[in-house]
Amino acid sequence: NAVGAWMVYAVNAGGGHVLVLFDDITQARMTERMRVDFVANASHELRTPLATLSGFIETLQGPAAEDAPARTRFLDIMQKEAQRMSRLIDDLLSLSRIEIDKHVRPSAQLQLRGIVAEVGKTLAMRFESDQRRLEIHEAPDLPPVIADRDQMLQVLHNLVSNALKYGRTGTTVTVTVAPEPAAAGQPASVRVTIADAGDGIPAEHLPRLTERFYRVDSQRSRKMGGTGLGLAIVKHIVERHRGRLEIESRLGEGTKVSVLVPQAPAPAASARTSISSA
Ligand code: ADP
Repeated sequence: NAVGAWMVYAVNAGGGHVLVLFDDITQARMTERMRVDFVANASHELRTPLATLSGFIETLQGPAAEDAPARTRFLDIMQKEAQRMSRLIDDLLSLSRIEIDKHVRPSAQLQLRGIVAEVGKTLAMRFESDQRRLEIHEAPDLPPVIADRDQMLQVLHNLVSNALKYGRTGTTVTVTVAPEPAAAGQPASVRVTIADAGDGIPAEHLPRLTERFYRVDSQRSRKMGGTGLGLAIVKHIVERHRGRLEIESRLGEGTKVSVLVPQAPAPAASARTSISSA
């Protein structure tokens, strides 16, 4: 029987007992709907750079064939579009990999000290070309966390790249890494905060930023080479780590994104020392 949004199955479990199973069909329909939307969005996102590439190929075969400066400019645009497409495919694959093991909690201990500097190195050229600075402040007493190293690198890479993409030329991106004590139902964590001096995000967009392909300004995101999946990947990785993601922003001042990763349990104090016989 369908009862409102609930499906009720009655199963004769033998011995005169009836087992009743509930299945929330609304939830199932929503999940299916999200899957269908996601495939449609992903296809659209892949088709856009392809259409640009086809357009330029036609132009190069026709009117621009003999125009050397135009050819150089068009090939440059085509290369950027191809790179964005390739990043999009990488991001789609990352998302599905995270989805596959989302129920497997990471178990390794990881020291976060030095990890932001590692990410900074991979982005050094972009910092330089934009005359930006990366400032890293790490607390001296950083406890280890329980985390997957590659996934933490990906989270920090996505967040520092966003600070670069949406910040302003000549400004500083500041990253702080510090322990956060346990509080009201939250475990002791290490908090990593990435702060930029960009244009900020209007408040009404904040709740939707981690949705796949959600962008405040699509044109700007595309122009900066964005895929619209960076924060969705961050959210999924943070959830897998049972961590937290906080985004604060002030229009005209900048954005602060914090990731809280649970600390590794402190090693049990060696209560049992050897008992020497008298
Ligand atoms: P994208 O590839 O478009 O950057 P993300 O998922 O990383 O995708 O981010 C989603 C949207 O959130 C971006 O398109 C941008 O509008 C906004 N955003 C993310 N980080 C920042 C930031 N530091 N400052 C301003 N806007 C941001």
